[in-house]
Amino acid sequence: MWFLLPRGYEDRTRITPLDQLQAGETAQVEGRVDAVERSFRFRPQLRVALSDDGPSSLVLRFFHFNAAQIQQFSLGSWLRCHGEVRWASQGLEMVHPGYRRIREDERGQTRATLDPIYPAIEGVGPAVLAKLVGQALQQLGQGDALELLPQASLHAWQLPDLVTSLRTLHSPVPGTSLAELADPAHPARRRLIIEELLAHRLSLARQRAQIRRLGALPLRNAGQLGNALLDHLPFSLTAAQARVWKAIRGDLNAAAPMLRLVQGDVGSGKTVVAALAALQAIESGAQAALMAPTELLAEQHLVNFQRWLQPLGIEVAWLAGKVKGRQRSAALQRVAAGVPMVVGTHALMQDAVRFQRLALVIIDEQHRFGVHQRLALRDKGHDGESVPHQLVMTATPIPRTLAMTHFADLDVSNIDELPPGRTPVQTVAIDMTRRPEVIERIRVACASGRQAYWVCTLIEDSEDIAAQAAQTAYETLCGTLSEARIGLVHGRMKAAEKQSVMQDFKSGDLQLLVATTVIEVGVDVPNASLMVIENAERLGLAQLHQLRGRVGRGAAQSSCVLMYQQPLSRLARERLDMLRRSNDGFLIAEKDLELRGPGEFLGTRQTGEAGFRIANPLRDAECLDVVDALLPSVLRLDGRIIDALIARWIGASERYADV
Ligand code: ADP
Ligand code: MG
Repeated sequence: MWFLLPRGYEDRTRITPLDQLQAGETAQVEGRVDAVERSFRFRPQLRVALSDDGPSSLVLRFFHFNAAQIQQFSLGSWLRCHGEVRWASQGLEMVHPGYRRIREDERGQTRATLDPIYPAIEGVGPAVLAKLVGQALQQLGQGDALELLPQASLHAWQLPDLVTSLRTLHSPVPGTSLAELADPAHPARRRLIIEELLAHRLSLARQRAQIRRLGALPLRNAGQLGNALLDHLPFSLTAAQARVWKAIRGDLNAAAPMLRLVQGDVGSGKTVVAALAALQAIESGAQAALMAPTELLAEQHLVNFQRWLQPLGIEVAWLAGKVKGRQRSAALQRVAAGVPMVVGTHALMQDAVRFQRLALVIIDEQHRFGVHQRLALRDKGHDGESVPHQLVMTATPIPRTLAMTHFADLDVSNIDELPPGRTPVQTVAIDMTRRPEVIERIRVACASGRQAYWVCTLIEDSEDIAAQAAQTAYETLCGTLSEARIGLVHGRMKAAEKQSVMQDFKSGDLQLLVATTVIEVGVDVPNASLMVIENAERLGLAQLHQLRGRVGRGAAQSSCVLMYQQPLSRLARERLDMLRRSNDGFLIAEKDLELRGPGEFLGTRQTGEAGFRIANPLRDAECLDVVDALLPSVLRLDGRIIDALIARWIGASERYADV
């Protein structure tokens, strides 16, 4: 109850005389009913004129009212009202104020503290809620037991104790400014924010410790398979890839499970690093699994892994939602029998999926999976004493604020370098009405031997409708650009058809590829240097950045045209502006987070996983430093205190590593 914090306050500690009222302020007043007037101009309304001992008067205006209410406003009776004051044609008024009839001898009796306004809870009225919290506060007493943070740390960081903070926020003393109370820098508020962020950190740290206590299969071997892959590749690793791969190999050699997050911008080459890790597991006679959040992304990985692993004599199994019936049982059997490499989607986490000896779990695009899903797949390889090593990859760099509260259980490596020969993409945003100009631009590009993408987007996340839109765009473009060789690819096509179109585009037989966002991931045609995105305003920043990553892979100067339909919402405009200004995945991720908020950014809005009660990891980034500093001393505390801290803020929503 104590931690149900007010979302705002009403100041009823003062009565403002009518002649001191100012338009725009919220005030509490007392006045005698001088006149009551019902009228029906435009719509029924009730006007009640009040005066006090001074010269001024105030009008209360109601648009909804009933007979009983009118009764209450008998001439000469006293009212206490609370509401916002505004200018009206005949002077100051309050529209639909809160009010109560009082006796004349009750005048001037005000509250001792500000009234908290609690967030609505279903089934409990605001008055009852305020009363319950009030009662809980009475029991708070000195409440030393409630304080969980070490005194010395509080002192060192000049943080008020818990009871003081709670009292201050639940029943602020008169004269406290409302703005000050709402400010996250207010000491009472700041203290609670820090405690909540700390609880999240502790929870992740505990999960990490619990996992690390379990053993993992040490994957020590000569690395022959990995070397064979490197020999086959048409390129050599960038320095960043080599460095990250070295860190991963070190982790895999150990008998404690790896918990590593690899961040790297679109096109930085995470997949090959993942494949090297998988080969390390496979060479030790164990299995590796790779999970991606969408079927298309998973399919792309499948293609890459088949291309890289099959020449080495390594089988790759495929498991996704659309694998059904006999194919599915065959796949399940292969997995259970120990097929070395498994690629798939969420389908990998289903109960029916049993591995023989899963030693490495690779998860792509981590931020689209919740923390809990990450743990679920890990459990698949949990055979009592050991768990699989975990490698998590994300193309959207996770801003520090979120990393600390959501991924602090992972070691982080950055692939902070793109393979050589990439050129930054020039991005422009253009109104849809200028479509003919854009088409001309494609004509010129194709004539000079360049290749281009035309991407269709849709509001609904339906591949059927998207396929239809792409079909239509394809037909129109074929009509206008009659001399160009144009292809079409969308998610409704059979895999073989898609592959063949992609192959034709890759080989240069096709000059323009019309596509749905299918090509968001993995498509790699260095000669393609122009991308047009239709209705770019519909896509999120991360998705646009991913799409744009398909061009700029060769030596030619590449460009991306974001075509938009007016009117643009403010958010859409900011997204397009950001893309015009920057090619830096990190800056874009920060902006994305700012625009969407942590819940959506992490894809966990529904489950409330990003849910904080008082903290906001974006706004409160500065508090994270204090959290960092407090952490060592808190970790030295009794385990029960740490449990209590986590339970207080996170409670049942924490997924305990079931060890
Ligand atoms: P992402 O990090 O976005 O998943 P990918 O792993 O899909 O990137 O790699 C993007 C492209 O770059 C692929 O075609 C891949 O083969 C290629 N690539 C990866 N590493 C290198 C490298 N060191 N040099 C040249 N090309 C590379
Ligand atoms: Mg990738």
